[in-house]
Amino acid sequence: MRRLQPTYQVMCLALVIMTSSSLTMAEATHSVIAPPSCSNNQGELVSFISRSGLQGQVAAGMANRDSDGNPVIYRMNYDKATPAFQRFVDFHECAHHQVGHIDQPHPPRNSFEHLMNESIADCVAILRVREEAKETYAAVIDGLKTAMTRVGFPKISTDSRLSNITNCYDNYGSSAEFIEGVLNQSGANESTRPGN
Ligand SMILES: [Zn+2]
Repeated sequence: MRRLQPTYQVMCLALVIMTSSSLTMAEATHSVIAPPSCSNNQGELVSFISRSGLQGQVAAGMANRDSDGNPVIYRMNYDKATPAFQRFVDFHECAHHQVGHIDQPHPPRNSFEHLMNESIADCVAILRVREEAKETYAAVIDGLKTAMTRVGFPKISTDSRLSNITNCYDNYGSSAEFIEGVLNQSGANESTRPGN
């Protein structure tokens, strides 16, 4: 059985809460979308599991392995998020599985490496938005902008995150190519991937 890395998950969760927290002020609830397909870098199918949690007011995702070692994404309070945001959070959490972050030691909070991992997950997520739900792009960007501003993030942080996302969306190739590049760079692509 693999060792769980709860610290990693909490940090990632915190980031997603930031992106979703404008929804705490929303009164309307939303229908919850069907999860996207998600497999990790070892070809294992990732399960999506709905949970209520936190104060029940913020939508958030959390990527992890369960107690049996199976890769999972917990979806919390998704009815508090718009469908566009739900999808982006799903893609972001899935990306952490796709590039193997879940099985790597977690870098120190707010270290360059940690922020890089989040940028990678954002990039994969927005490329999948482009590929699978292009019509929601504006809603995703608008939601991120509004949420980060409301939570009180400095403009430079919001701008930096959005700059990364729009650059990926405008200039990068497919999500599959990007993921392959990340895996090759990290060495997580060696020998263990079935069918490759
Ligand atoms: Zn993350």
